[in-house]
This record gives sequence, C-alpha cells and structure tokens, in this order.
Amino acid sequence: MTGRWGCAVVNDRYRRIFPYCVALSGHRAAYVEMLCTRGASPTFSRDPRDAVNRFMAFAVAFGSVANAEQLQRGLHVAISDKVRIPPASIDPTIKNYHWLDLVRGLYDAYDRGAETALLLDFNGNVAEGPGFNVFCVDDGKLSTPAVGVLPGITRRTVFDLCAEKGLAVAAADVSVAALRQSDEVFITSTAGGIMPVTMIDGVPVADGKVGAITRRLMAIYWQKHEDPAWSSPVRYP
Ligand SMILES: *Cc1c(COP(=O)(O)O)cnc(C)c1O
Repeated sequence: MTGRWGCAVVNDRYRRIFPYCVALSGHRAAYVEMLCTRGASPTFSRDPRDAVNRFMAFAVAFGSVANAEQLQRGLHVAISDKVRIPPASIDPTIKNYHWLDLVRGLYDAYDRGAETALLLDFNGNVAEGPGFNVFCVDDGKLSTPAVGVLPGITRRTVFDLCAEKGLAVAAADVSVAALRQSDEVFITSTAGGIMPVTMIDGVPVADGKVGAITRRLMAIYWQKHEDPAWSSPVRYP
C-alpha cells in the first residue's frame, strides 16, 4: 500500500517519518496523520506562549467517512442549521480540530435520520462537513466552496485530477439551492477519498444514483495510489 502526501509543510524529514510510521504499524491500508499541538506549560502558566509544543505522527487502520454500502449507493446528508465557525474567529484553512460546530451538526443529522451533515458558512452558503469537503457537478462542471473551509488535500487532488482529465472545476460560492439542484454531489476526505452523496434532507440528488463523473473520479483516485508519480512507497520490515 502506498500513500500520498502533498502538503506544503511536508519536508524531507516528514517524508521519511510517515512511511516509517506505516511500516512499523504493519497496516497495509493505513490512515496517516500528523498533528502539532500547543502542548502543556511545565510551570502551569496561563500564558499559551509558555507551552511546550508537541509534534505527533501516527498510522492507524484506514478508516472512511462512508462505509462500503454508502460508497455503493451514496451518502444521505442533512444540511445543519449550525453555522460553521466563521474564519474571523478560527482560521478554517488550518486543520484545527475546533469541531464542536461540526459535531453538533452530526447529532442533528442523526436525529433527522441522515448519515452525516453539511454545515453552512456565515453567508448561508454551503461550507463543509465533519472532516470532509463537498463538490457538486452541474452540466459536467465541478464546483466546491471557496471560503470558510479547510482546503483539504483530497479536495486539491480533485482539482489535480480534473486538470489531468480536462474537467472544469472551480472554487466558488455554492448556495444551498444550487447544491440541491446539482446533477451530482460528492464529498472528499483523506478518510475515504471521494465519496458519493445521493440524498440531501431526504430528497434524492438528481435521479438518486451515484453520478457518472463521481464514479469516474473515484476510480481514478484509487488508481493513482498505484502510480509512483502520485504516491510514496512503504517498505515493510
Ligand atoms: C480533514 C478535514 C477535511 C478534509 O481534508 P483532507 O485533507 O482531504 O483529509 C475537510 N474539512 C475539515 C473541517 C477537516 O477537518
């Protein structure tokens, strides 16, 4: 199993650490992550600048937002009335794990019989969900929210795949109405890759079947894991 790390902060040192983490874990399909935390202050100081920062990297068994059945038939999502924390409060472009808004959205979604949530931004446009970005497809053109979201690596990979395959893709405002009227909707996350959405608030997206462009991108996304240009090898002991 190979993985792909494209984050700008990933320098050569981390490029060595991550495959080593996977090799040590023994997982053939792994989810790999790094975290920087503020850490604790050795003197119990209230000044966050006194904290000793920590870096962690780990590999665990690969997990997915969507299970096997949901990947086949598409996820059922609910649009939450909880607004994503605005960028003026917490910078969403950092994977900050400041997630209570997203978790509250998840509880709402489960209460309403859906499988996951989409939150709106401070302008009432679609933002993202708990650990994933969202795309819609209209007349063969893809769009994904531009602001108020984490620009995830899987989202960026969709841009790369579209460039390679000559598909039009744009980061732009996505209104709730536009999302509901889309031909296709999918979400993206390291945890699961590209995952179809076929129901929003109990109403099918288009004909309620996984769309052709979504299917195609899902297939290419996994093919790229075998491509040396898109992946890093793991050497198991
Ligand atoms: C992790 C995460 C994503 C998806 O990012 P990837 O880099 O594709 O895994 C999207 N939104 C939020 C809020 C996240 O925490």
